[in-house]
Amino acid sequence: MYQLNDKIKNLVPYEPISGTYDIRLDANECPDNLPEEIRAQFAQKVRDIAFNRYPDPLASSLVNSFAEYYNIDPAMVTAGNGSDELIFLIESAFMQKGDKMLVVSPDFSMYNFYSSICEVSCRSFLKGSSLEIDVDALIETVNREKIDLVIFSNPCNPTGKGITRAEAKKLVKSVGALVILDEAYMDFWTESLLDEVGAYSNLIIFRTASKLVGSAALRLGFAVANPTISRAIKAVKSPYNVNSVSQALGEIVYRQKEYLQKRQKMIVNNKEMLYNGLTEIADAQDDMIVYSSVANFVFVKTDHSRAIWEYLKSRSIVVRLMGEYLRITAGTADEVASVLRALGDYVKG
Ligand code: PMP
Repeated sequence: MYQLNDKIKNLVPYEPISGTYDIRLDANECPDNLPEEIRAQFAQKVRDIAFNRYPDPLASSLVNSFAEYYNIDPAMVTAGNGSDELIFLIESAFMQKGDKMLVVSPDFSMYNFYSSICEVSCRSFLKGSSLEIDVDALIETVNREKIDLVIFSNPCNPTGKGITRAEAKKLVKSVGALVILDEAYMDFWTESLLDEVGAYSNLIIFRTASKLVGSAALRLGFAVANPTISRAIKAVKSPYNVNSVSQALGEIVYRQKEYLQKRQKMIVNNKEMLYNGLTEIADAQDDMIVYSSVANFVFVKTDHSRAIWEYLKSRSIVVRLMGEYLRITAGTADEVASVLRALGDYVKG
């Protein structure tokens, strides 16, 4: 009888939270849908798609629109079916049997998860209690352990902390390893290395349309790297990885610079409001730590994480429970006010 192999036999399919909630603050998404004017442009564009034809393998129009938005060379950009696809693709193609990969911890769990599917040895560099990355110690570990690939999110999901552009540069210049900076949340901060990526032989930066750009439904991620690396990524990806609908709509969405800038300000404001409100609540508690964040969510440590998570669910608000931590996405101003009110009621009760 056929038996599943050891690396997959105990895996379970990814299960997002089920049920219907009034307020969803669990997935770091954008709180509201794209406006009607943009969706009207989508409808028009979808009508013109040649559905009988395969998509453009290089997603050229989408890549040009993305590159123009970030003011970078489109030759350095590869589009993916979400960054999730790119993480798996690059880990599996750029690593060989016996190679060593390093993740930091805590961080986005998929980096480590995919390494086990690729049968690559993966070590963890632990962050201290401040949850900051000690970049000098990280450099020392990468070099001492002869790491081939180091990958982490900057800003970090779930901590909301980030390393500065100067620190990121120092890391890339000081190691022989390939460095992947996942800048999924960098649209909310200022320390991107995107404009310099072409100057390094060992750097790949990921971006996504799922956060600030508010298009998680389209599944669009981007890998940006020098032309040699970009060519290799394009060569190993499946030819038609980004479907024609997502290519067409993504092209439109990255042309909405003014709208995206406005939304960025709104989300950063709401994140500040969430952080300040949480800090006020934590000040009156012995066991609650609220971490400052440069992303669109706030990370909280509390002995009562599960009880708070259950209580919020009972008020139709869902946040992310991660052991003794909660990660709360900055929603609309009303949603932030609701979650703060509910938390205030919880601690009073
Ligand atoms: N990287 C990080 C750090 C993330 O938090 C996420 C989504 N939660 C992703 C990548 C995946 O993004 P995408 O939707 O583009 O697959």
